[in-house]
Amino acid sequence: MVDPTSDLGEDVTAEEAPNCAACGDPIVNEVTHRVVTWIEDDSVRTAHFCEEACRREWNP
Ligand SMILES: [Zn+2]
Repeated sequence: MVDPTSDLGEDVTAEEAPNCAACGDPIVNEVTHRVVTWIEDDSVRTAHFCEEACRREWNP
């Protein structure tokens, strides 16, 4: 039996998935997942997007 609560490796649940910075959707194993990082106030900021279109629309 497989424990349904065990970590299955690459699978990410909606609860622990990042949310798209543009549309707010949880990004769960999206192949179109985009990550943007930048430096702000001497720290690294990260924004996740569910697809390229959201990244283009986004303005910090
Ligand atoms: Zn999005």
